[in-house]
Amino acid sequence: MSSTFVPDRWIPGERLTGRLPATEQTLADGELAAPLVGVLALQGDVLEHLRALRRVGARAVQVKTAAQLAEVDALVLPGGESTTIGKLLVRFELLAPLQARIADGLPVLATCAGMILLSDELDQVEPQPLVGGLHVRTRRNAFGRQLDSFDTRLEVVGIDGGPMDVAFIRAPRVEEILADDVEVLASVDGYPVVVRQGLLWAAAFHPEVTGDDRLHAAFVATVRGA
Ligand code: GLN
Repeated sequence: MSSTFVPDRWIPGERLTGRLPATEQTLADGELAAPLVGVLALQGDVLEHLRALRRVGARAVQVKTAAQLAEVDALVLPGGESTTIGKLLVRFELLAPLQARIADGLPVLATCAGMILLSDELDQVEPQPLVGGLHVRTRRNAFGRQLDSFDTRLEVVGIDGGPMDVAFIRAPRVEEILADDVEVLASVDGYPVVVRQGLLWAAAFHPEVTGDDRLHAAFVATVRGA
């Protein structure tokens, strides 16, 4: 193990290449630091998001603690299982700090279970911990069992270069927009599946598994401009 090894930033399964972690790289004079984007790393598709963010020029780190959350310029809430991630947010004492940072303007890209967690309301009776902040009511597992998972090509407003290749995996959808500042960027069957409320972006699909990095690129571009 070299002296530059930083355990918190080691990604399970990723080969150590001998390069310094992105956050340790030094910048040439006048070079603007790439934004530091965290990926909430309690459960779900963490590694794929870290790789996509790095491919589009961001520095990307896992976030598991409030101290790590305090360092990042933006955050990805990955897909996975929203009930599990919500419970772990409570157990790791991250829920309140995350809500505070979002209230303070933290840019967030939330995908699938992340979109569920970022929603202000859910279309279900059973309670589950939510981060909230995005003024929508969301329905979990909205596409029915027969369509639990499907790949599709989806036109997304503001994403140039033709439809995106995306994977819907037991995906949610937005049932109702609760405020005027929420823009719908894409819909399936008339229901919003990509929405944006200022610096809060949410997509019902998994953009990180198809190699189509354009949503990550658009998000990182807004973080750079924020
Ligand atoms: N169905 C999951 C949930 O309710 C989300 C699925 C996913 O993130 N791929 O949390």
